[in-house]
Amino acid sequence: MKEKINFGSICVKEAKFQGDIRSHQMPLYATSSFEFDSINQGIDIFSGKEKGLVYGRYANPNTSAVADKIARMEMFGLEGEASALLTSSGMSAISTLAMGVLGHGDKVLTQGNLYGGTTELFVKVLGRMGVETIFTNLQDLNNVEDILRKEKGIKALYFETPANPTMACVDIAALAQLGKQYSAYTIIDNTFPTPYLQQPFRFGVDFIIHSTTKYLNGHGNSIAGVIVGKDKELMEGPVWQTLKLAGTNASPFEAWVLGNGMRTLELRMDRHCSNAQSIAEYLEQHPKVARVNYNGLTSHPDHELAKKQMRGFGGMLSFELKGGLDTGIQFMNDIQFCSLAPTLGDVDTLVLHPASSSHYNVPREMRERNGITDGLIRLSVGIESVTDIINDLEQAIA
Ligand SMILES: *Cc1c(COP(=O)(O)O)cnc(C)c1O
Repeated sequence: MKEKINFGSICVKEAKFQGDIRSHQMPLYATSSFEFDSINQGIDIFSGKEKGLVYGRYANPNTSAVADKIARMEMFGLEGEASALLTSSGMSAISTLAMGVLGHGDKVLTQGNLYGGTTELFVKVLGRMGVETIFTNLQDLNNVEDILRKEKGIKALYFETPANPTMACVDIAALAQLGKQYSAYTIIDNTFPTPYLQQPFRFGVDFIIHSTTKYLNGHGNSIAGVIVGKDKELMEGPVWQTLKLAGTNASPFEAWVLGNGMRTLELRMDRHCSNAQSIAEYLEQHPKVARVNYNGLTSHPDHELAKKQMRGFGGMLSFELKGGLDTGIQFMNDIQFCSLAPTLGDVDTLVLHPASSSHYNVPREMRERNGITDGLIRLSVGIESVTDIINDLEQAIA
């Protein structure tokens, strides 16, 4: 979409809905339904002849305005148009899209190091509905092509880049190309980088989903998700139909809070990137740290690939403390300034020790296969003064 203004200005300008009251800020449309002028207009709207608002589960001014803004961000500087639908969570963005474009007998090809909830959704829920998921290493493109050639019925390639917890990246352009060649939709979870740092449509993917709960909101005070797609027929057809009938729409309030948070996206992301880079460099030279996983370090195996497809390296990193489980737990107990919270993308720095929390019930071998060792710490680097974050890490490591 050709824009007259720059990315940062799109973030800042209020999401507007064309109503008859000229409020400067977007009001909260706490209404479950919308009135018709006449029965004929009602019929026209219901039959799709006229565009209009009907019922809050179908669309609402708050959810539509915020979704449209995210679509503009994802399409910034690109030809063509995309549309977006706001959902009740990141998980419901994934499940709604999956239910919208996949059916019994279809297969999904994806990676082992997905967001935990996504893996469980694919295996436990979609599996029960006859959608089979194949997990493989998506970094090995020959292997991906081999599977696409041999397996019949792969309808979607699903990926995340950079991915938890080692910030491993996959080649978006190459996977999008393979998807086209083998008639599989390509779907990317763009939650970690946001459209400011990475625009997957640039590389030819079909669909983008976000957990807007994270960086797009940025303030940790709402749960929502979004599906962005360029195929108008699919988006306005089966995808919207699924959202409407499965009832996975976002609430107007969550959309309103999200819209407010999104206005500082560019500023926040710049600061997340510079803080994370400084912290990664500090940790890398620390004698008690065995390894740092940050895409902005030249020591990261995917540094070059990340540089090719991202305009900055984001705020997520992980590092491994020398010593085992006890060292990790001790570190967590000694953290004072940063918060111990199981989310990411907030304005404040969040620390997580996967081995004693999110992955406590996962057997050690399985954990370690995905890079989650006993001493691994994940940081969602915030936008505070960076010296305060480093000072806290310093005393907790000591
Ligand atoms: C949090 C997260 C999700 C799930 O989003 P919710 O808003 O919690 O439902 C999906 N993918 C990634 C990468 C996430 O970080």
